[in-house]
Amino acid sequence: MSDWRLRNQEMYLKNKVLILKDYKNRTTSTDHDHCEFCFDKFSEKEQDIQRGYCTEDNYYWICPGCYEDFKELFQWC
Ligand SMILES: [Zn+2]
Repeated sequence: MSDWRLRNQEMYLKNKVLILKDYKNRTTSTDHDHCEFCFDKFSEKEQDIQRGYCTEDNYYWICPGCYEDFKELFQWC
């Protein structure tokens, strides 16, 4: 599979447990994050993505579109 969004994320995202949650409910103190694949911005602002999938530590965020595209490849639970 070849896609511009893939840059060896399997090193840290393969087989991870991902949680669907609202960005405002994150446990980290950052005010924004970017999708690990397409770089779309997550924040609490209206123009940004406000809901998506994150790792259990809330450190990595993945937008719904990328989640759908890569869930089989990465075997997310
Ligand atoms: Zn994305």
